[in-house]
Formats: sequence, C-alpha cells, structure tokens
Amino acid sequence: MNTNKSKALFAEALNLLPGGVDSPVRAFRSVGGTPLFMKKGKGARVIDEDDNEYVDYCMSWGPLILGHADPDVLKAIQETAVQGTSFGTPHKSEIELARLVTGAYPSIEQVRFVNSGTEATMSAIRLARGFTGRDKFIKFDGCYHGHADFLLVASGSGLATFGTPDSAGVTDGNARDTVVVPYNDVVALEEVLKKEADTISAIIMEPVPCNYGLVLPEKAYLQKVRKLCDRYGVLLIFDEVINGFRLALGGAQEYFGIQADLTTLGKIIGGGLPVGAYGGKKEIMKKIAPEGPVYQAGTLSGNPLAMSAGIAMVKKLISKDAYSILREKAAFLRNRLDYVLQKYEGRVLFSQLESIFTFSFIDAKKITSLDTVKKCSMELYADFHRELLNRGVYLAPSGYEVGFLSLAHTEQDLIGTAEAVTEALDSIFS
Ligand SMILES: *Cc1c(COP(=O)(O)O)cnc(C)c1O
Repeated sequence: MNTNKSKALFAEALNLLPGGVDSPVRAFRSVGGTPLFMKKGKGARVIDEDDNEYVDYCMSWGPLILGHADPDVLKAIQETAVQGTSFGTPHKSEIELARLVTGAYPSIEQVRFVNSGTEATMSAIRLARGFTGRDKFIKFDGCYHGHADFLLVASGSGLATFGTPDSAGVTDGNARDTVVVPYNDVVALEEVLKKEADTISAIIMEPVPCNYGLVLPEKAYLQKVRKLCDRYGVLLIFDEVINGFRLALGGAQEYFGIQADLTTLGKIIGGGLPVGAYGGKKEIMKKIAPEGPVYQAGTLSGNPLAMSAGIAMVKKLISKDAYSILREKAAFLRNRLDYVLQKYEGRVLFSQLESIFTFSFIDAKKITSLDTVKKCSMELYADFHRELLNRGVYLAPSGYEVGFLSLAHTEQDLIGTAEAVTEALDSIFS
C-alpha cells in the first residue's frame, strides 16, 4: 500500500504541530507507523490522501453513528450556513436540540450547550460543587472525562484517598479534591463514602467505560452506585459523551434503567461538529449563570451550524429505529467472526456492547476491570492494526480505544471486515 502523501504531510505537520497532531492518539504512537491523512468520507468508508480506501470503525471517535457525510446532516449544515454561521445571540436551533435532548433523557429537564465533552464534564463538576457546597468529587480509575486539570488525575498510592496528577502541568492542588476509586468495586466506593461523604459533591462516571478498552459493568453495579449516591446525598454524574445516543437514544440511563442527577453529552449530539452539553433537573441547573452563581459561558456555544447538525442527527436516529438496526449489524459481525474467534480463543477477545466493540489480546472471557485491560498485549494490537490497515480496515490507532459500528456499515462491509480480521489473526499468530 502506498501512503507516500500521508508520510510527506506528516513530516510537514511535525514541524508545525506538536507531534504532528491536534490530539495525541491520532499520531499512531501506540501502533507505530505514520498516521493517515484522510481527505474524504462517505458512509462507512474513508479515503486517504493517497486514495487508499478503508472501512472505518473509528468514525471520528464515535460521533458518526449515521456514517460519514450523511446527506441529511449535510443538508442541515448547508441550509443553516447560508443564513450566517454565528450570531452570539440566542438561536431557535438551541431550543430544538434542547427539546430533543430532554425528550430522550427523562433526567434532563434543562440543558446547557457547550463546545466539547471536556467543557461539559468540567462545567458539570463545577455545577455539582456549586450546588452542594462541597469541594471533592469521586471519579473511577480508567474513566476518561476530557482534559480539565482536576479530571486528569489517577489513583493515589497506598491508603491515600486523594488522587495524583496524571499529566505534567496538573498541580497537587488540582488533584487534591479528586478521589479516585476502582470501577466495578462497590465496597471500595462505599468505604470512601462512609468516611468522607460530607465533603463529596458528586460521583462522575462513564456508565460503560469506553476510553480504556471497553469495560463492562458487573450486574446491578450501576444500580448500586445510584443507591449509594442517594444514601449519602452525593450527586451522580453520568458522563455519557460516548454512551449517550449510542447504547440507546436515552443512552446508558435508558439502557440500564437508571437516572443520573447530571448528564454530560458530546460526540453524537454534535452530528460531527464540535458540541458538548450538560443537563439535569431544573433545581440543579438553575444554579448556572445567569440564573444562579455558578459561572459558565461560551462565545460559540449553541452555534447554529453545530446545533443544526445535531438536530438532523438525532431526528434521524429517532425516525430510523436506529438502535435495533445497529444491534442487528453488531450481531451479524459477531457471527461472521465466530469461527476465527473460536480458533484463537485464549489469545484474542472480542468484546461488544451494542454498536461498541474491541479486540483485546488477552486470555479472558470478559473484561470488567482496569487490571484486565492493563494485561492486554498492545504489541499484538499494533500488529493486528497494521495487518488490518493493509487490508483496508481502519480501527482506532490504539488498543485502548473502542471501535464503533454505524448505520452506514453494510453487510458487505462487515463480511469483508470479518475476512480481513481472519487473515490478520492468521498472519500474526502464524
Ligand atoms: C471524548 C470524551 C470526553 C471528552 O470530549 P471532547 O469533546 O474530546 O473534549 C469526555 N468524556 C468521555 C466519556 C469521552 O469519551
């Protein structure tokens, strides 16, 4: 495969952008080689600068649940753009998307739109602190919530219940109010709450963690977390930036039948444009400026182009019975992979929840903890990734990232992918 143009562009980019990219994982560091510069996408397929075509399972890291360049989303963006791209005033599209979001999530009565998932989680934590008057909050090891200072925190050592900075430039002060506990461990969570619930504003979690492999919640785990929050008077924040509009229209909350106090959204609700959102009951949301004392603002927040892309996306998801179609596609892929997965049982694990999946190189039946993800072979993932690229299948360039199916993936795409996976696994295990 010829990728000379991508290589030349990357060499140029390395001079002008740190690491040649605007977001680290794109740089292909964990799979080796140079990143591909994509120039075009249509449906489930992307084409790079050298005109190589791939079936895409990265899908811009999740937002493109309808596929690339969906005609209805494009039409909405185009029709909005000719009227002007930004006003810095209220715009009626904000009301329309808010109506769709509150309609899909019973726990969300009001919503504030922002420009990224990072802004959404950062603001939700500020709101939780402002609402409860407590400084600390709990997060789970391995859950990613964007790159705000106090969220780039890992678990502390030994008995320390406060976290430690997970990035240079994050101060101990930033990390001090972040308590980090293991996911799927009710006992550890209850211990922290017993000791210091009166200082804790919120628990923030990805209901189904998707940013450190795909980690599945143990049975009734999320219900238990909800109960603990109620018992100790702590707000539950579901970070549904990936799960939202993905597991179901109403995200993990609909899927597992649980209501969060605050929800953060992003990715899919932007229809491929930069959007984030956070929302919850009016009682909490009214604390946000200008109603209340918690400040949060944005020059381009509620941008008409982004809103109209999101509206088109969500409307289509509602009208198409999207989630049962996605489930069928997921089952079809799984069936097609059955033979090769059995052949290499104990060496590779295909995990899947609805339209989210991962290939993990480990001897395990199911991944429910961060420790299991840490044991996966990233060397084998890198080999696998390279073999698949050569066969025209584009997975996220890191074994810690998940794959996404879209409504645009056809049976033919999935059959071809299963063949490519079979050949790739035969090749790396031969
Ligand atoms: C992607 C992601 C974020 C951050 O969103 P950005 O738009 O990249 O800032 C936050 N939380 C979760 C769960 C995510 O997957």
